[in-house]
Amino acid sequence: MSKSLNQLTIRQAQAKLEDGEITSVELTRACLGRIKKTNPKINALITVCEAGALEEAEKADERRKNGETGQLLGIPYIAKDIILTKGIRTTVASKILDNYIAPYDATIIKKLKKAGAVLLGKANMDEFAHGASGENSAYGATLNPVDNTRVPGGSSSGSAAAVADDMCIFSLGTDTGGSIRCPASFCGVVGLKPTYGRSSRFGLISMTSSTDVPGPIAKTVEDASIVLSVIAGPGENDFTALDKPVGDYSKMINKSIERIKIGIPRKLIKDTDKNILKVFDKLLDKLREQGVEIIDIELPHAKYGIPVYYIITPSEISSNLARFDGIRYGFSDKEAKNLLEVYTKSRGKGFGDEAKRRIMIGTYALSAGYYDAYYLQAQKVRTKIKDELDSELKKVDAIMTPTQPDIAFKIGQQVDDPLKMYLEDIFLSPASLAGLPAISIPMGEVKEMPVGVQIIGKRLDEKILFRIGSNI
Ligand code: GLN
Repeated sequence: MSKSLNQLTIRQAQAKLEDGEITSVELTRACLGRIKKTNPKINALITVCEAGALEEAEKADERRKNGETGQLLGIPYIAKDIILTKGIRTTVASKILDNYIAPYDATIIKKLKKAGAVLLGKANMDEFAHGASGENSAYGATLNPVDNTRVPGGSSSGSAAAVADDMCIFSLGTDTGGSIRCPASFCGVVGLKPTYGRSSRFGLISMTSSTDVPGPIAKTVEDASIVLSVIAGPGENDFTALDKPVGDYSKMINKSIERIKIGIPRKLIKDTDKNILKVFDKLLDKLREQGVEIIDIELPHAKYGIPVYYIITPSEISSNLARFDGIRYGFSDKEAKNLLEVYTKSRGKGFGDEAKRRIMIGTYALSAGYYDAYYLQAQKVRTKIKDELDSELKKVDAIMTPTQPDIAFKIGQQVDDPLKMYLEDIFLSPASLAGLPAISIPMGEVKEMPVGVQIIGKRLDEKILFRIGSNI
C-alpha cells in the first residue's frame, strides 16, 4: 500500500516535489488532516497554524515554480513551543505565557523560513522544558502514539509524538539534559542534540543557558542530517553560536563504518533493563560484522551527571525565570494590591509545580552560604565529566549507550516521584554537561515499545553520528 503524504520522509517528499508529482500545499494539507484526526487525543500540539501553513506552502510552490530548489523547500514541520515564532503564540507550555505572541523569530526559525520550510504549529512540551515525560504541561500531557497509555518522554514530548504519528515530516526540539533524545527513544524516532553552539539559541526561551541546544527530530538519520545542515551556524545575538563551517551532513549517510572505534561504558549502563541490554548487545554484534571495533571504556565520573545537572540546571533556571515577573511578559495577576503582590501572585499562579521546585532548589544552591558547597562543587565535577569524555573520545570515534534505562513508562506512574523522573536522564546528562553532540536512533523493540541507542561524538563531529547512525 502506498504511503499517505504525511508519512513521507524529507528525502521522499523532496523527490516527489522535485518531480512535480505533488505540491507543498498537498503535502501540508495531508499533515493538517492528520493533525485534525489524531491531535485531539495525542495532544502533541498546543497551537495549529492552519492558515499560515497553507500560505507558506503556496509561497514554497511559487518559489519552486520560479526555479528554486532546496532540501526543505515546501516541507512541513512543527516547532517546540519554547522556540519564538513571530506573530504566533509561544507559551512554553506555561500559564505564565498563555497567549504570549512572540515578537520575533528565533534564528533557527529564520533559517528554516529562508529555506522554505512550512510551519504547521507549535508542539506541546513539559513546562519550560522541565521534565522527562511530557506530563508537566499546563495544556495537559501528550500521549505516546505507539501506546496511548504511556508517556512520550520529554521535554520535547509533542515534537517527538508528532513525528512518530506522522503529523509532520520533521520537528524541532530543544535538548538541555536529554529533552530531544529521551522522547525520540520513547516514541521510536531519531533525535539529535547538536554540539553546544552548533545551532543558535537566539529566540529560545532560556532554561539552562549553558546547555540548551535546539535540534531536529526526524523519521530517519538522513532527514536529521538534512535539517541540521539548514539550522546550524551562527546568527545574530548569540555569542555562544559557533562560527564554524557547516557541512553537507547528508554526505555521511551510508558511508562505510569499517575500522570505526566505538567505546562502551559498561559499568555506567549495567543497570539498564535486561531486555534493552539484549537489544543493545545485538546491535553491537551487527556493528562488529560491519568492521567496527567495539572497546570497553571507563567513565567513572559520568554517574555524577545527574546530581551535577540537577544543581546547575535549577541554578540557571532560578536566574532565567526571574524575568517572568507579571510585568514584562505574559500573565499578571489582577488581584495584586501592590508591586510585591504582582510578583508573588503572578509567579505563584503562573508557574507550575516543577518550575517552582527548580526555582527553589536553584535559589538555595546559589545562596551565599551554600554556593561553594553546591554550585561551585557541581561546576568542578562538571569539568571532570567533560575532561573524562574528551579524553576517552581521543581513543575512540564515538561512545554508545542505550538512550534510556527503560521503555516509556505509564502515564501517571512517576509524576509524584521527581527523583525517579530525574534519573531518566542518567545516560543523557554527561554529553549535555560536556556540550558534546549526541543522537538517539531506534535500535529495536522491547515489549512492543521502541528503544533507542545513543551515540555521542567529539565536539562538532556530528558527522560521525550520521555515519554510524545510518548504518544501524
Ligand atoms: N529531563 C531533563 C530535565 O527535566 C531534561 C530537560 C531538557 O533537556 N530540557 O531537566
